[in-house]
Amino acid sequence: MEQLNIDTVNRLSKVSKTAGGKGLNVSRVLAQLGAPITATGVIGGHYGNYLTEQLDKDDIHHNFSKIAGETRSCIAILHEGQQTEILESGPQVSKEEQANYIANFEKILSDANYVTISGSLPKGIHHDFYSVLTEKATLANARVLLDTSGATLKRSIESDYKPFLIKPNETEIADLIGKEIKSEPTLVEALEDEKFDGIEWIVVTLGADGALVKNKNNYYRVEIPTIDVKKPVGSGDSTIAGLAYALYKNETPEVVIKTGMVTGMLNTQEEKTGYINVDNFEALFEQVKIIKIK
Ligand code: ATP
Repeated sequence: MEQLNIDTVNRLSKVSKTAGGKGLNVSRVLAQLGAPITATGVIGGHYGNYLTEQLDKDDIHHNFSKIAGETRSCIAILHEGQQTEILESGPQVSKEEQANYIANFEKILSDANYVTISGSLPKGIHHDFYSVLTEKATLANARVLLDTSGATLKRSIESDYKPFLIKPNETEIADLIGKEIKSEPTLVEALEDEKFDGIEWIVVTLGADGALVKNKNNYYRVEIPTIDVKKPVGSGDSTIAGLAYALYKNETPEVVIKTGMVTGMLNTQEEKTGYINVDNFEALFEQVKIIKIK
């Protein structure tokens, strides 16, 4: 919109509807990279059907469990170079629906090496739910990449079955260890905390400043080139897709990190959220620098 006017009617000529949400952003970018994937979660009602129709159109394989509630719809208004979002809180998921979902998830696992889990949990679901999924995945020999925050992230890293990779930001790290992060050395020190033991990869993305990555006991500063950015929303999800793809392809740690950076950057160069132009991959890949700092 040219301008968003409050307390009056706003009429729009340019509207687009997408199957959105963090998990589907990850799915779309993985599909663009050519990975064989199954998008999964819970859906309900008319919007739930719309969502799977959109995935069919994009040729993205999916396997969702149905719930009684209606899949939520969220509105993002782009105006005057800003983005205002109106987000529904989403449906309640009953205990029985959760059990159905876990049973379906276990079936999907029989065919999976990697599982990416993104976003917050719907209403009615206990914050240990992702730990339960991580345990099931680990026991089925699938590695879990987890992108969540708050109590859900805390519970997951405290669990006996830890995610293989997490992608917290600096604030989340600070919350987890209860210390302020002021600089790169304090971030490295924070990641050395025993709370993170057993998590093979910790990728702290820093927007235009690249990332700081811990892989086993190695620490890397990742520098990226300055690029023209159209819309950065969903870059974190695109980064998860790149990391998952390179891990699935058994690439070296360097290539894994670079691929995650490049898919994040490529997403910033598009209007669409969770979407990349694969043709520009190589040119950016060459420009990512990885410096081992410890
Ligand atoms: P979001 O929550 O919007 O999905 P995030 O906070 O999880 O994002 P970011 O750190 O903003 O993740 O971005 C992930 C990656 O995307 C960065 O590490 C970088 O590679 C790329 N990226 C994001 N913003 C920019 C930018 N302004 N310029 C260049 N690259 C960017």
